[in-house]
Amino acid sequence: MKPVQCQVLIVGAGIIGLAIARELTRRGIRDILILEKEPSLGWHASGRNSGVLHAGMYYTPDSLKAKYCVEGNRLMKEFCRERGLTLNETGKVILGRNQTEVEALHELKRRADACGARAWLIDDKSLHELEPYAAPSLQALFSPDTAVIKPIEVLKALERELAKSKVTISYATVFQGLSETCQARTSRGVVRFEKFINAAGAHADRIAHQFGLAREYKILPFKGTYKKLAGDKTFLVRGNIYPVPDLRTPFLGVHLTRTADDEILVGPTAMPAFGRENYRAFAGWGWETLPILLRDSILMFKDRAFRRVALTEPRKYLKRFVFKEAKGLVPELSPQDLAETDHVGIRPQLIHWPTKRLVMDFVVLRDGDSLHILNPISPAFTTSLAFAKDMVAQLLG
Ligand SMILES: Cc1cc2nc3c(=O)[nH]c(=O)nc-3n(C[C@H](O)[C@H](O)[C@H](O)COP(=O)(O)OP(=O)(O)OC[C@H]3O[C@@H](n4cnc5c(N)ncnc54)[C@H](O)[C@@H]3O)c2cc1C
Repeated sequence: MKPVQCQVLIVGAGIIGLAIARELTRRGIRDILILEKEPSLGWHASGRNSGVLHAGMYYTPDSLKAKYCVEGNRLMKEFCRERGLTLNETGKVILGRNQTEVEALHELKRRADACGARAWLIDDKSLHELEPYAAPSLQALFSPDTAVIKPIEVLKALERELAKSKVTISYATVFQGLSETCQARTSRGVVRFEKFINAAGAHADRIAHQFGLAREYKILPFKGTYKKLAGDKTFLVRGNIYPVPDLRTPFLGVHLTRTADDEILVGPTAMPAFGRENYRAFAGWGWETLPILLRDSILMFKDRAFRRVALTEPRKYLKRFVFKEAKGLVPELSPQDLAETDHVGIRPQLIHWPTKRLVMDFVVLRDGDSLHILNPISPAFTTSLAFAKDMVAQLLG
């Protein structure tokens, strides 16, 4: 097969790859080819998340997450409004149910202020005006700018827009490696490119390795499963009710989210998974399962934050432990109010191996004309449009 030629080759048609492609077209670049190994959009994180547009309360001021979240939230809302896509501007409360949690809330408020995010500490009375069934709290943090979208709707809107700009998305095409400089081997032949974007989500570290980058990182996948509230109990949650998270980990804790379909999702969990695509019990197990288990065991000893996750999360395979967390947020719930869903996503969490620490922020690596986006964990969906602007500026200099 004759080699295909393009100016920019993007691997991955998740939200990051699509947002970057769109930004490139806005800068006048049209000769873009996106490789996507699946037959359509949304098979992985971008189609399997909570759909929450975060407002920017969790992230330390020096982080990329903080840098892009507020602007990303604004741009994604604008994107949805302009195209008539679903956008539920429900707001969110984080509950401070005891003194320790209240102290953490104050830290979140400081982070929100530093990030330029709107967030207000409110008393129990104001909390119950917003969320009448939330657990009694000493204080809560209210974020008016948190909203909910339909991730697949957003992905499809981007796909339509890119098609109008003549950008090609080659589905069912796997990037397999570099055959020589600026020449990619794919499952459909060779592609020559001038610039390369690695937006391969859970596989981005492997691709970066092929460029001689990111050797110090290893991946640990974490599975997020969800339950939902039975239909007649959805009135118990108006918007989003969250616990105070453990700020030493990137996970936000099991929370209650009113989705764009007016269901109440309960989750996600953050259970160590056995593969990058281990969505079902034994699906996604492979040669990497053993190394992943080995990394889990090593981190159990080396990292306290990971140890806490590894000791508390796996029990959430049992419904009663998820229920316990949900009831802590909304005391009126009873066990039969939680129904099963098949909604499950995997977070491709990077570990900085020399220090054995969970990497809390996005990692962007550049090597000449290639740009690699690693650790695209939450809130990467929220930040995508703002993040893409900066990535394109970096790539084009
Ligand atoms: C459970 C869960 C809940 C979340 N909730 C939220 C939330 O509420 N709000 C928020 O902002 N973020 C949330 N996130 C995070 C967000 O979903 C992700 O950060 C974001 O979707 C990452 O996008 P991506 O494009 O980097 O990755 P992906 O969506 O995984 O896209 C990468 C694509 O690359 C393709 N690919 C990989 N390797 C190759 C290859 N070799 N060749 C060709 N194609 C390849 C894959 O098939 C995939 O489609 C959540 C994530 C999870 C897992």
